Amino acid sequence: MSKVRVRFAPSPTGPLHLGGVRTALYDYLFAKNKGGDFVLRIEDTDTTRYVEGAEDYIMEALEWCGIIPDESPKHGGPYAPYRQSERRAIYNQYTEQILKTDYAYIAFDTPEELESIRKEYEAKGEVFAYNNYTRNRLRNSLTLPEEEVKKLLAENTPYVVRFKMPVDRILTLEDIIRGTFSVNTNTLDDKVLVKNDGMPTYHFANIIDDHEMKISHVIRGEEWLPSLGLHILLYEAMGWEAPQFAHLSLILKPEGKGKLSKRDGDKFGFPVFPLNFTDPATGSVSKGYREEGYFPEAFINFLTLLGWSPSEDKEILSLEEMIQEFDLYKVHKAGARFSKEKAEWFNQQYLQKKTNEELLPLLKDLSEVQATNLSDETLLTIISLMKERATFVKRYL
Ligand code: GLU
Repeated sequence: MSKVRVRFAPSPTGPLHLGGVRTALYDYLFAKNKGGDFVLRIEDTDTTRYVEGAEDYIMEALEWCGIIPDESPKHGGPYAPYRQSERRAIYNQYTEQILKTDYAYIAFDTPEELESIRKEYEAKGEVFAYNNYTRNRLRNSLTLPEEEVKKLLAENTPYVVRFKMPVDRILTLEDIIRGTFSVNTNTLDDKVLVKNDGMPTYHFANIIDDHEMKISHVIRGEEWLPSLGLHILLYEAMGWEAPQFAHLSLILKPEGKGKLSKRDGDKFGFPVFPLNFTDPATGSVSKGYREEGYFPEAFINFLTLLGWSPSEDKEILSLEEMIQEFDLYKVHKAGARFSKEKAEWFNQQYLQKKTNEELLPLLKDLSEVQATNLSDETLLTIISLMKERATFVKRYL
């Protein structure tokens, strides 16, 4: 069997949400459990959503969690570059390849033309999709005479490349966590593969890179499940073997319904990001677990158990133990409800495990403690008196 290679492929559009960190953790645990590689790839083809500092934030957050990639933009590796914006030449070559097949075509419709069709549909109470029903009345290389297409291209008319979704096919899709399910291709649209600036969209760049980087397992959030049919067909179009897929369920709000959001964090007083993040546009700061006083070991422990349980009902596990025990087949199908109390409980457990001497420098790091000029001896006495009731060094000791 070929080597297990798993990638975490975030887009640098802001700070990494808890769900993203958990995906990275599962990617890493699975790879390491199988003696494989963990790759960090930055998916930055959508320049309109790019946020300054987000890539450094992602790297720093993973490092804080103790997840060190084997290959990444920072660490390099045999399949560099690991930033999609630097891989344009690779994508160009595959754009040519897919256009030679029957799985893609060129579309000249301008954004204004598409907008007006969309409005037409809306007025009829319908939703417009560029698909096998509508593509025949739109301006593309399937409907225009060949001469006209050549002329438009020679005149440098802007165009996009679209996937030609096959008609009337039932796809049987497999997911390690969810099992087998089917999708009718008539329900899928002709997604843009290459934008009019020549850059591929997420879908195309993602499968090219997973192929080029020899990724064996794609473990990612369930929001990508509806794209699985397209991705499998893209592998077919390119004549490549597809990796195996596993889609992770959401981390849910404390009440149990809906995706955990930053607003829930603000409302109930807990962070939804691993580290503080300062929005470069507004200057507003989002709170992070690190700055709130969580130990990274406690943070990754509680996060890993949000959606996966080891065989014995053990709750306190080190990264090494999690690697030993991790099994994708035991990842829960249902969403996992976030609990602030549980997160704090984990921190408390890790705090209790530390010796007074280990806690001393952490306490001395706090400015309010420095201001007191108390001796180490006194501080150690305070620690031994307070430790048992404490949850955070920062708040109680
Ligand atoms: N760039 C995508 C994201 O940020 C990656 C999805 C995937 O793992 O395929 O969610």
